[in-house]
Amino acid sequence: MSHDNRKIRLIMDLRNQGVTDTRVLAAIERTPREEFVEEAFLDQAYANQALPISCGQTISQPLIVGLMTQALDVGDRHKVLEVGTGSGYQAAVLAKLCRRVYTMERHRDLLAQAEKRFARLAIRNVTSMSGDGYKGWPAQAPFDRILVTAAATLVPPDLVAQLSDKGGVMVLPVGEAGGLNQEIIRIRKEGTQFQSERLFPVRFVPLVQGVPESG
Ligand code: SAH
Repeated sequence: MSHDNRKIRLIMDLRNQGVTDTRVLAAIERTPREEFVEEAFLDQAYANQALPISCGQTISQPLIVGLMTQALDVGDRHKVLEVGTGSGYQAAVLAKLCRRVYTMERHRDLLAQAEKRFARLAIRNVTSMSGDGYKGWPAQAPFDRILVTAAATLVPPDLVAQLSDKGGVMVLPVGEAGGLNQEIIRIRKEGTQFQSERLFPVRFVPLVQGVPESG
């Protein structure tokens, strides 16, 4: 089966499994996942599953990308922070939905590969940086939306501080580092008021504080 046919089937699966926002489905449809997976997994680019990338990390399952992006409620004027660039796939999907994406990755090697993909695909509204996303990107704050794609044991306080207080929304996995008992949490910030909701269970690689010595 061709990538195109597999992609159509994947989009139908995502819709059946709860991704109903047509802007989100269109953004996923227009993002070539085959450009973001390792060559060895090319034939699985449109399977609804997470796949290994380098540095022991993973590109998220398309369903989770869809559900988290939908939960984030991204608008076309929004400035969005993503923590955990990984392959760059989620950032590329977000880039189709908002004004600008700022994405951070602690592994320089992964970031370099993601940056090559953004350039090759002519994605111009993504700005990336290698660094510890646990601390966020203070120079660019506040952000209308923050999406974290690695699991924290507690909600990172610096990210909460960098979220816009005019209806800012943050979506992140929170739970144990071993991948157990994790769930997606959505936090809304209005003035000094916060509202937090638990959305659905997930299994993510851990959000690790600090940056590696090399790579
Ligand atoms: N969004 C990615 C998948 C992310 S996997 C994609 O679409 O492919 C989670 C990523 O978060 C990993 O690449 C990991 O290195 C990164 N990460 C973990 N802790 C981090 C931190 N403190 N700061 C920045 N990136 C981090």
